[in-house]
Amino acid sequence: MLTIQPIPAFDDNYIWLLFEPRSRQAFVVDPGDAAPVLATLQDMQLELAGILITHHHFDHTGGLEQLRQRFDPTIFGPRNPAIAGLTRQLESGDEVEVLGVRFQVLEVPGHTLDHIAYFHDGEQPLLFCGDTLFAGGCGRVFEGTPPMMHASLQALADLPAITRVYCAHEYTLANLAFAQAVEPDNEQLARRVAEARTTRERNEPTVPSDIALELATNPFLRCGEPDLLACLRAQGRLQGESAVDVFATVRGWKDNF
Ligand SMILES: [Zn+2]
Repeated sequence: MLTIQPIPAFDDNYIWLLFEPRSRQAFVVDPGDAAPVLATLQDMQLELAGILITHHHFDHTGGLEQLRQRFDPTIFGPRNPAIAGLTRQLESGDEVEVLGVRFQVLEVPGHTLDHIAYFHDGEQPLLFCGDTLFAGGCGRVFEGTPPMMHASLQALADLPAITRVYCAHEYTLANLAFAQAVEPDNEQLARRVAEARTTRERNEPTVPSDIALELATNPFLRCGEPDLLACLRAQGRLQGESAVDVFATVRGWKDNF
């Protein structure tokens, strides 16, 4: 059984720590900075057995070399030669084992072309999705296209509703403020905003979330919902009715929000 907790890094990154309490073995996901990982491992008396990488951005990979030199962990990541030191390069359909727990690899391009996510399909499904799906939002489309990003998000939306979603940033309040601009009358969204504010006032993470909550409140997973289309139409922002058109409209609006 894995225990999972966030290691805060930089201003708003979360490096996810997965560990097995009995063996004291650990994995981390997207260690952009080695220092907080090393400090946490030492505090908790854990040995780093492996690393999962979701994409090449420096705030997800910057700590790799230092951790590799210190522990010689197994390092899984996408098929991208720009990421140095990978033990194994992954693509859709591959499986990896993390401290005895199997994860499937999903290619989710859009934020970057190399972006992958890690999904465990068990009694409690788990998803590590980097900068693709955020709590209440999604990553910027830097390298891909809106249709590509929409398809990637749709693949995540189709995972079991109870899947816990571990994203890589604490962007939730800003994302939900935008979500409320898109859908001012979404009641579940209003409740989520109130809860997230309370959580942040206690200085606690708003993540993980789950797919059910994202489907109900995240505009980027609601591009086919009549309610969301009606909101865009009422605000004079509807530029096309296909889910991909709606996604491109909402993403473009958020980029300038
Ligand atoms: Zn990124």
